[in-house]
Amino acid sequence: MQQHARLVIIGAGIVGCSAAYHFAKLGWRDVVVLEKGELLEVDGSSSHAPGGMFLTNSSKMMAEFAKYSRAFYDEFNTDPAEPALFGTGGLEVAYTPERLRDLQRRKGWAHAYGLPAEVISPAETTRLIPLIDPKIIHGALYTPRDAVAKAVRLLTRLTRAAEAMGVVFHGHTTVTDLDVQNGRIAAVVTDQGRIEAEQVLLCTNIWGPLLPEKIGFRIPLQAAQHLYTVTT
Ligand SMILES: Cc1cc2nc3c(=O)[nH]c(=O)nc-3n(C[C@H](O)[C@H](O)[C@H](O)COP(=O)(O)OP(=O)(O)OC[C@H]3O[C@@H](n4cnc5c(N)ncnc54)[C@H](O)[C@@H]3O)c2cc1C
Repeated sequence: MQQHARLVIIGAGIVGCSAAYHFAKLGWRDVVVLEKGELLEVDGSSSHAPGGMFLTNSSKMMAEFAKYSRAFYDEFNTDPAEPALFGTGGLEVAYTPERLRDLQRRKGWAHAYGLPAEVISPAETTRLIPLIDPKIIHGALYTPRDAVAKAVRLLTRLTRAAEAMGVVFHGHTTVTDLDVQNGRIAAVVTDQGRIEAEQVLLCTNIWGPLLPEKIGFRIPLQAAQHLYTVTT
């Protein structure tokens, strides 16, 4: 493993891989990504999430991120045999009149941020998803740009594209400490050796607070379990 890098990215989930790709695209060289688990099918959330992409958000910045990601992932959706993105559209269903009012508000956010969205009737909702009983719902917000991303396929394509621009990825490499000198991180310490780094980017998601804690920096982040149901 090299002993110096301009940029060390810790964590090869979708955020670390995307950051590596974008830095390389901006012309950064000498970029290294370190991942404690397997590459591609990483230890973190990215390889476990079903990949629902709901673009509507109260925050304009988050909606812009989501719009960008939707278009960006489309660029990597090049193999019809192994799609990386399904343009399914999204539905948020209202079981109460209050929820329907909230969905009207969400429609307003979507339109304000340039996203197509409409509130549809119970019958129209059931036409889109026959599993839903129209008698027990009040309507739904239909957002046709929403999608489902296949994260491992995207991770694979992003990683390969970043590698083609010179980014180096190391799996099974745990960053165990950050070496601080003169008030800034000078190196990352790993179970495979030490890398001096001009810049370090932490993309460790739920593990986010652990390394900063070692250098006296608190990230107020609490990991929580997340359940989901898959229907066939
Ligand atoms: C069950 C579930 C369902 C979800 N569903 C959705 C959904 O439908 N839509 C949606 O948008 N989001 C969903 N999410 C959230 C989404 O998956 C995450 O926000 C996203 O994957 C986070 O990406 P990341 O790259 O930040 O983190 P991760 O994918 O968690 O990657 C972080 C990586 O850092 C590595 N790492 C940590 N510490 C170290 C260290 N010290 N040294 C080296 N490597 C380290 C980890 O091994 C890990 O691979 C879901 C999450 C879960 C768990």
